[in-house]
Amino acid sequence: MNVLIIGGGVIGLCTADYATRKGHRVTIVDRVAAGHEGCSYGNAGMVSPSHFIPLAAPGMVARGLKWMGNPESPFYIKPRLNWDLLSWGFKFWRAASSAQVARAAPLLRDLHLASRACFEELAEIPGNDFGLVKKGMLMLCKTGHALEEEAKTAEQSRELGIPAEALDAKQTADLEPNVRMDIAGSVYFPKDCHLSPNRFMAGLKQRLAKTGANFLWETDVLGWRRDGNRIRAVLTTSGDLTADEFVLCGGSWSSLIARDLPLDLPMQAGKGYSLTLPQPRQVPQICAIFTEARVAVTPIGNTLRFGGTMEIAGLNEDINPVRVQGIIKSVPKYYPDFTSKDFEGIQPWRGLRPCSPDGLPYVGRARRYSNLCIATGHAMMGLSLGPITGKLVAEILSGEKPVIDIELLNPDRYAH
Ligand SMILES: Cc1cc2nc3c(=O)[nH]c(=O)nc-3n(C[C@H](O)[C@H](O)[C@H](O)COP(=O)(O)OP(=O)(O)OC[C@H]3O[C@@H](n4cnc5c(N)ncnc54)[C@H](O)[C@@H]3O)c2cc1C
Repeated sequence: MNVLIIGGGVIGLCTADYATRKGHRVTIVDRVAAGHEGCSYGNAGMVSPSHFIPLAAPGMVARGLKWMGNPESPFYIKPRLNWDLLSWGFKFWRAASSAQVARAAPLLRDLHLASRACFEELAEIPGNDFGLVKKGMLMLCKTGHALEEEAKTAEQSRELGIPAEALDAKQTADLEPNVRMDIAGSVYFPKDCHLSPNRFMAGLKQRLAKTGANFLWETDVLGWRRDGNRIRAVLTTSGDLTADEFVLCGGSWSSLIARDLPLDLPMQAGKGYSLTLPQPRQVPQICAIFTEARVAVTPIGNTLRFGGTMEIAGLNEDINPVRVQGIIKSVPKYYPDFTSKDFEGIQPWRGLRPCSPDGLPYVGRARRYSNLCIATGHAMMGLSLGPITGKLVAEILSGEKPVIDIELLNPDRYAH
């Protein structure tokens, strides 16, 4: 079957990879140039079974409102009178309940663990070294209060069957001797991993090119040609492209791309930044998150990447230096041997996370069309869930029952 994939980020390329393995012929269309490093490249590279709680969780709205007053805080919504934003905010507020977390957590656990297994398989492919490190992740807590809160999450995690252990400062230092830390303690999630997202993406592109996938870079999808409940073609800046099956993996732009269909895919872009030190003064061996500051730290080879902030400010890729400063200022608080000077001359990277209001991705067939699948809205989990998303979509395209029940990810859950 000919499959046309819109979007060459991690979700589009993983979908292309698994679809190719099932014998489909794939074309990937993306509006950016081949070398453009969007959201799927400069991210923190964490594969995270520890992230079983969706973004929309109890307490998030109150915390978000508190953070909004501080321009250097981890979370910021640019106030604007925009119907899509208001409607998204209302849906987020509705979804941020214990009942929703209880429904979503077992599914997120299964998806992350299945995806982790996919990464292990992919790492075995000769010549496909993307730096997978299976040493876990540390949630570093500066304060006793944060440690108590994280310890509760660790308990929930163990109840779900994901190992997690609360450690004091000395136990954390014993586990991570490579970097000096100023913390009250941590929670250790041994099943988490990290990798180089840039190398993972490069490997996918190389493998796809070898297996005959067709890449159409610098090709903007502008609209659709429909015939009843079938999509006939996408209209692009390079002409009309026909296929048997279409998969929308447009990241933060997905609802815009699907607007004329029409499909109801509420989405906001959550901008984040990262800074990669080429020669850090210390290189931890285990990736970590500064809990209070919400900054992720990932050793990638000999380099060290710090990533964070969630800025809901529309489809806007400008770099906001005040928010970048928020990341830089957090570093010496947890790693006291680092200083702001370490970041002088480092170019910040930015990416737009595609955020659905309930914190769950949209994966599955669109109800109105017999040959359109959606795979988007992975927010802060797109790298981690990339391979399993690709695998599930490839199964759907091949008429198979997905290995995991993904009813909660139904792309029509907000449709009228
Ligand atoms: C700071 C930061 C840290 C992160 N850390 C992690 C992490 O540790 N672990 C994790 O799992 N996730 C992490 N993420 C999230 C992860 O990066 C995203 O979830 C993921 O990259 C989304 O992938 P995607 O393929 O859906 O979107 P994208 O990578 O944005 O790809 C979508 C593609 O669609 C293309 N497109 C858009 N419009 C059109 C159009 N009209 N026509 C053609 N093409 C179009 C775009 O050009 C783009 O290439 C992080 C994100 C940030 C910002």
